[in-house]
Order: sequence, then structure tokens, then C-alpha cells
Amino acid sequence: MVMTNQEHNDRIDRAVRAARGSWTDILNNLTGHHPAFKGKNQACPICREGVDRFRYTNQHGEGTYYCQQCGPGGPFKLLQAITGLSFLQALEAVESQVGVVVAGKPASNEPTQEHMKKLARKIWNEAVPVKAGDEVDRYLKGRGLGMAQYPDVLRFHPALGYYEKIGDAKSRKIAEYPAMLARIDGADGEALTLHRTYLQDGRKAPLPDAKKVLSAGVNGAAVRLFKPTDKLGIAEGIETALAVHLSSGMPVWAGLSAGNLEKLWLPDSVQCICIYADNDSNSAFDGQTSAYALARRLKKEFKRNTDRQVQVFVPKQDGTDWADVWLSRLNKPRRVA
Ligand SMILES: [Zn+2]
Repeated sequence: MVMTNQEHNDRIDRAVRAARGSWTDILNNLTGHHPAFKGKNQACPICREGVDRFRYTNQHGEGTYYCQQCGPGGPFKLLQAITGLSFLQALEAVESQVGVVVAGKPASNEPTQEHMKKLARKIWNEAVPVKAGDEVDRYLKGRGLGMAQYPDVLRFHPALGYYEKIGDAKSRKIAEYPAMLARIDGADGEALTLHRTYLQDGRKAPLPDAKKVLSAGVNGAAVRLFKPTDKLGIAEGIETALAVHLSSGMPVWAGLSAGNLEKLWLPDSVQCICIYADNDSNSAFDGQTSAYALARRLKKEFKRNTDRQVQVFVPKQDGTDWADVWLSRLNKPRRVA
């Protein structure tokens, strides 16, 4: 069977998207841990010259490199240069690794990842679906985000351990709090880890880290609050995503941090993506920067799919997000017509 250009491009897109965030493992596995991927300046495996002109930069988890002589490039070119494979062979090799590595079985750091997944599963199973009157419902209602039925990816944990690291010592359990758990799903749709919001008296608990992700390596994963149609809204915070959903009816996912937002994995079926940025004009513009970085990436990725639309919405007021906007609208006295 002959592949059309479109099918060929789709196949490359799929592999690239699935491999995002896992390129270092993939390239190490395919090259027998070639020194190029240590992230140190060295001779260039592409132009095969110099002593320090090349560096594997892996920007945004995309397996990129930069050579002062032959310029920037991506993982396929690098893989081909090191192994001598043709492009098609390299693509097949990457596809075979995507199945292995991205499915969560990397050759390296396996014990910690597996351990964290197990821990996430344990905590998740201790929690229950959110229902009227529980601590999560009270917290969300207090922010104008009450719903008759909450998304399945949110749960209520009655007493979640809160740990703190003091100095160099191992982290210790300080106390237990009720918590809102949010399941974070990877590109394959499988639960990767959890986001926790510690609560007290229907509010965010007064703790230095009241909101945190259970383990590192979220890399493009998201809290998939609602099932996308051909449209999908993207916000940073869970509360912001819920506010956008309540005000627009749109399915929305939460990317959790500015750093993760721009790496988000999004399904092919979505034709219209609305990014609801935080307005961080009062600090370092992180919210806007990552929203536009995501928009830029999506536009570039979609250049073969011209029907696709990407829009960015930023709240007018400095230092606010769409959850603040939603709450202030709710609290405004209703005008009499
Ligand atoms: Zn070079």
C-alpha cells in the first residue's frame, strides 16, 4: 500500500506528538546512550567537526539541538546522523520506541516513575467523587464554581497527608487536610499523576504549598475536565478552567502551570482551540507568554490543517485570571432591565 503525502505527514505528526517529552529516553535507547544526549557542549555529530559547537537542548521536550556551525535542528536529523538510518527507518524506530517509552516503561528511572504512579493510584483510590456538601463542593461553590455534577477527574480526599521538607532532611508528614484531587492524564489518556489542592473550612488551606503536583514530569499532560468536541478551551488553573466552562459551556482542560501550558498535548480532532490566559502583567508575564507560546506552536503544527483556529483571550485587568473575572461578574448586583 502506498501512503499519500497527507498520510505520511500525519504519521510523522503522530510520532512527534507522542514522543514529545520523551525524546531523551527514545534517542538514548536508539543510539545505545550516545554521548550527544548528555546536554553538554561537544563536537557536532551532524557536521562532525569542532569540540564544543554542538549541544542537545531538548527545548520544550522536542528533542532539539543547536550547532554553532550547522544551526538548529530536530531529533530525526540527529538520530539519522548518529545511526545512519534513512528517514523512514528513523521514523519506524521512533514509532517503536513511542510504544515502549511513552507507554511508561522507559529503560531508565523506571523504579521512581512506577513508584509515583502506584502512589498516585493509591491516593486516587482513597478519594471519592465530589458531591454536594463535601469540602471540595464547598470550596468550589465559594468561588462561584458549584456544579450539580462535577467532572470525574476531580475527587475529594477526606484526609490527605501534607508533607514538608525541612533543610536537607527527608520530607516529613506535618498534618492531614481534606483535599481536592485532580487526575493528570498523559498523551495516551492514561493517568500520570495527581494535582492536590489542600483545603480547610471551604477555602484553600493556609499552607506554603496548598496546591501541588504529586510528581515531576507532567510534560504536556493535562487535567481533562471535559471531553473535547471539535472545540477545546485551555486554561492554566483548574478553577480557571471550570470558570471558563461555566461561562461559555465549552469543554476545557487545565494545563496547571505556565511552563506546562506551552507543551500541552491536544487531540487531533479539535478544530478550534481557545486559550484562556492568566494576566500576569503585574509580575513577569508568565501567563500571557506561555499562552502565546502554545498558540504559536499550535499554529505551526497545524499548518497542514488550515481549517484549524487558535485564539488567545487575556483578562483586561493586570494580575487576574478568568476565574476572578467570573467571580466578580457573579458578585455584581444584577441590573434591572
Ligand atoms: Zn554542526
